Order: sequence, then structure tokens, then C-alpha cells
Amino acid sequence: MSEKSNLVTSTQNIIEEALYKLGYDEGLYELIKEPARFLKVRIPVKMDDGSVQTFTGYRSQHNSSVGPTKGGVRFHPDVDENEVKALSMWMTLKCGIVNLPYGGGKGAIQCDPHNMSKTELERLSRGFVRAISQIVGPSKDIPAPDVYTDAQIMSWMMDEYSLMHKVNAPNFITGKPIALGGSLGREQATALGAVITIEEAAKRKNIKIKDSRVVIQGFGNAGSFIAKILHDKGAKIVCISESRGALYDPDGLDIDHLLELRKEHGRITPLFDNLITNSELFEIDCDILVPAALANQITTQNAGDIKATIVAEAANGPTTQEATRILTENGVLLIPDVLASAGGVTVSYFEWVQNNQGLYWTEKEVNDLLKEKMVEAFDKVYEISQSRHLDMRLSAYVVGVRRTAEATRFRGWA
Ligand code: GLU
Repeated sequence: MSEKSNLVTSTQNIIEEALYKLGYDEGLYELIKEPARFLKVRIPVKMDDGSVQTFTGYRSQHNSSVGPTKGGVRFHPDVDENEVKALSMWMTLKCGIVNLPYGGGKGAIQCDPHNMSKTELERLSRGFVRAISQIVGPSKDIPAPDVYTDAQIMSWMMDEYSLMHKVNAPNFITGKPIALGGSLGREQATALGAVITIEEAAKRKNIKIKDSRVVIQGFGNAGSFIAKILHDKGAKIVCISESRGALYDPDGLDIDHLLELRKEHGRITPLFDNLITNSELFEIDCDILVPAALANQITTQNAGDIKATIVAEAANGPTTQEATRILTENGVLLIPDVLASAGGVTVSYFEWVQNNQGLYWTEKEVNDLLKEKMVEAFDKVYEISQSRHLDMRLSAYVVGVRRTAEATRFRGWA
């Protein structure tokens, strides 16, 4: 079984178990084990050299019983149908965990954005919106940024939708620039959300963030913002990594300096030669480990070596199910991806609400409300894991699927 079809199967298994814990029967599982709607499109794009290239895109809508579907669009050469399906199911769970009135959605285009010009990316983005226009809209399905898509791409998509429908529709998409109706605080929301859950976990484990020792795998958007926020709170970031290796200093790295280097050079590890490997990173003595890079990083091979007390999954799917079991047995407090990375969609929801009402909030209002939502979500997940003796992932799935299950029942769909 390929790694990506495995993503769907393992998600289905945990959803099935969560529904069983909630007392639902097979009928409901039959409905929500797969996305309700999945669209595959072919998008012709006029390239700068005059040729036409055709790209494949997808939009997956998992379940819309609670409300419109919601989720990002990623641009990636390796993305496939199974991955998009699993990601849309995870969005249902994230929205359920933070209690947003949405179901899960996800989109993707198979492309290599780093080898395309800005004008080609614009034509591709607009073409994608035209191709999926039948099934998206501010009260149907609301896209957002994801891997390798950003505020500029959201702007083109929003403009294309507005032109097609002859209305100004900022509420069609989130993650927009502030000038087009974006929300203050959206850019750092995923990282801030993760940090809020880390703070809650630290309280449960009697760890003080100040002077805690933190290892972060990945120094991209999520990882670097998380490093900065924790560093500013007095934590010692002892290790950060990129794909070619990791920087380690037991006395704590100078994160501000590394962020400067990142701005200037993009990747920072090529500037150093005393790197440790990405597998050595998992053995470092630390309090908090944050996998913020790729899927399937913590496996049966290395889970037993992990010395951290808290593992916060800022990436999607970094820990396999067997590894989750090992960590839980070893007393590690795991903050699963569907909880730790729910801050982005939470502030996307705030952005959509602001667009709908035409009244905009201060950054403090956004961040305070984000904190309220994330703390409430963490509490619920932690409480169920303790009272019902479930691992944190299963507990998060129980919380995440509950509202969808109830809404589906009330509508009479299962
Ligand atoms: N792509 C982000 C996620 O996976 C954000 C989705 C959104 O803001 O709707 O959570």
C-alpha cells in the first residue's frame, strides 16, 4: 500500500474507532469514511513561452452537514487524490475540534510552483477557480492557503471568483492580504495556535516554558514562527532542522539571528558545517519536541528514543499510529496534528466572519479569541483522554467527529 493511500486508511480506522466510542453504528461510518464529493479537473495554462500546458487539480469536500466545507489549496508536484482526500477528512476533524461551523475540504494542483513564473502561477490559479467554480462559494466551500500557496495566490483566486460572479466576494476565500479583507493575525495563526496548545500541555506536565528545552524539526513557515514565539517566551530552542540536517546547540540557538539568515538566504543549513542528522535530532534530551516538517517522521524505529515530555505535531501526520502507541506508553503527552495545527483554520474562520459582517477586528481581538478557542479545544481533548483512557489522537478524533456525526444524524443522512 502506498504511503498516501495509507493516510486515508489510517484516518478511516481512527474515525471508525472514534464513532464507535461515541456509540454510533456502521451506517454513519459508511457515509463519512470517504469525502462526499471529489472533483478532479484538468486546467489548461498558457505558458510564458507560448505553449499550453495542462495541469491536474482536485477539490475534495468531505462532509457538509455542519456547514460549508473549508480548507486550503496546495500546489505540489507529488500531490495525489488520496492525499487530498485524507487532508479534507483531517479538516473536518480540525474544524470539529475547535468547534467551527464548517465541514472539511481540501484542494490541490499537481505542479512545481518553484519552476513557474509569477504570470504562469496567476493563470493557473485563475484557471483552477474557473474549473471548480460550480462547487465552491462563500456558503458552499471556502478555500485558503496551504503548502506553497500564499496571500498573492488567494488574491488572484478571489478576483477571478468575483469577476465570474460580478460581485466583490472577499468571503469566497481566506488567507488574503489585509488590503483585500484578510485578517490581522492570520499569517502567524497556525504557529500561535500550536504554541497555545504547547503552553496548555506544559501546564499539565509542570513544565515552565521559560528555560524549557525545545527541538523543532523543520524551519519553514510553521517551524520558524513557532521557534520565534517560544524563544520570545524564554524557551531555549536547542535544535532546528531543514531537510539536509539540523543545527544543535545545547545552550540554545540564537533564533533572531537564524531568522535574519533565513530571510537573506532562504535555506540556512548550507551556511553551517557542524550539522547533526535528522535522525539524531529525535534523540536529543529536551522537554518539547515539535515535528513541523513532513509526514511519517516518528515511527517504530525512533519513537522509543524520544526523550521529550511533550510532542506537538505542527506538521500533518508526522507520527505513525504504532509510534503514537509507543509514545503514549512512555508517558509522552502528544498534541496531535488535528489539534496542534488548527489555529490556521480558526483564524480563517475569523477572517470569513469579518468579511461577512464587514467589520474588522484588531490583532489583539483576533489573538485573544484564537487563544480562547485553542485552550477550550485542548481542554476537551485532554479531558476525554484522561477520563476515558484514550490516547490523545483518538481523543482528538472523538471530539473532532462528534459535531459532524450529530449534524449528519439530525439532517437524516445516516
Ligand atoms: N491549510 C490550512 C490547514 O490545513 C488552513 C485551512 C484554512 O485556513 O481554511 O489547516
